[in-house]
Amino acid sequence: MAKTIFEKHTQGRRAVILPQNDVDVKVCDIIPEKYLRKQPIRIPEVSELDVMRHFIELSSLNHFIEKGFYPLGSCTMKYNPKMNETLVRNTGLSNLHPHQPEDTVQGALEILYELQNDLAEISGMEKVTLQPVAGAHGEFTGIKIVHAYHKAKGNNHKNKIILPDSAHGTNPATVALNGYEVIEIASNSDGKVDIEALRKVCDDSVAGFMLTNPNTLGIFESQICEIAEIIHSVDGLLYMDGANLNALLGIVKPGKIGFDIMHFNLHKTFATPHGGGGPGSGPVGVRKDLVKFLPVPMVEKKDNTYFLDYSHKETSIGKIHSFYGNFAVNVRAYIYIKTLGADGLRGISENAIINANYLLRKLEKYFYVKFNQNCMHEFVASGEWQKEKYGVKTLDIAKRLLDKGFHAPTIYFPLIIHEAMMIEPTETESKDTLDEFIKAMIEISEEIEKDPEILKNAPCCTPVKRVDDTKAVRDLDVKFNIAE
Ligand SMILES: *Cc1c(COP(=O)(O)O)cnc(C)c1O
Repeated sequence: MAKTIFEKHTQGRRAVILPQNDVDVKVCDIIPEKYLRKQPIRIPEVSELDVMRHFIELSSLNHFIEKGFYPLGSCTMKYNPKMNETLVRNTGLSNLHPHQPEDTVQGALEILYELQNDLAEISGMEKVTLQPVAGAHGEFTGIKIVHAYHKAKGNNHKNKIILPDSAHGTNPATVALNGYEVIEIASNSDGKVDIEALRKVCDDSVAGFMLTNPNTLGIFESQICEIAEIIHSVDGLLYMDGANLNALLGIVKPGKIGFDIMHFNLHKTFATPHGGGGPGSGPVGVRKDLVKFLPVPMVEKKDNTYFLDYSHKETSIGKIHSFYGNFAVNVRAYIYIKTLGADGLRGISENAIINANYLLRKLEKYFYVKFNQNCMHEFVASGEWQKEKYGVKTLDIAKRLLDKGFHAPTIYFPLIIHEAMMIEPTETESKDTLDEFIKAMIEISEEIEKDPEILKNAPCCTPVKRVDDTKAVRDLDVKFNIAE
């Protein structure tokens, strides 16, 4: 473990040189005696170089995409071009104030307007709002629109929303948060929506169906048109969780295959760095008759002038975030889309799909893949063979991967695969990197056969060894005390 900044403390060291105090006032003259500190403050005394080295060292202890492969399924941990970061920091963008008059922010409004349109074009939806600030927030917005649609039609008996059992955890949470009952249906033997099971639960009380396509098994729901027909036959709305859009760019428009509403995860598909809990953006697109429910304001253009349009505020679900969403994340997506163009975007998805299928075919001999048809941008392998024969868990495999310099895949999700390892390589990885990962995974499968203990004690080579998750939660202690 790296030394903490407190351990680097040396009395008298300073990282700053302050000018001589030339103010003739004593602190004790303005602050009452009882509030004054009695003991000197205990903070680390270090030089500027100590501080620099400390934080640079700390930053390199973590795993991040610039350091190594990060195949975290469903999260699309692709490389984010640094050009976006440079451009978004341009003071013409970063110094704007959200209360500035419209005529002084025409460029910013143009960016938002163009992005709304580009996302509508990419998705085949009529219109897109940029206000939601996360995927889950987009879901919340989308299901609020489902509710507004039924309310406007007097469909007051609709109180259920259907989800497949492969759904991301945010989907049932969204349904419950909006006051609907969750109806879960099992997947069929191909890992897709079971049409018969869907028909059985689809009655007049159904408000909608939330589906991820490709689903969380990395499989394209090829019966989507039939699914849409079934849902629409009871006047339900089909919602697409668009977190997996990295598989569809330029290939499939969700708005053309029956989806009525969808959200995008700009921080996954459209290159905003994420994973550290930073800001995201979860725009929502809708079909034509639902546009009137979108949050206000939309960005519109009239006589070559951009403006914030509140004109549908009577029918709108209202505002779901302060101001206009996460502007800087939206700017990054705009730059990314404009840089790549239509062909470039399609190339992303084609390469993401090729990379995932390459890994799938190379690894399926070593790790069980229940649904092993050709996949989209990700697939779900399993540690089931290893667990049955050697008692090694998927968690152990994930920890051992850290020793080999890779971030682990998403594990134990989706819930319907035992010992799941959800692997998403993304389009930004070269064949060389994929081959190194394959080699590491094969080495691990051999280690398990020869000496399963290696796995159970992994990681051996990371700054922090195996963490006791339960103890970390129960006895959380984030203080550091300098020795007296
Ligand atoms: C990431 C993800 C979400 C949630 O998106 P957030 O931006 O993390 O709120 C929803 N569904 C799927 C399938 C996802 O992968």
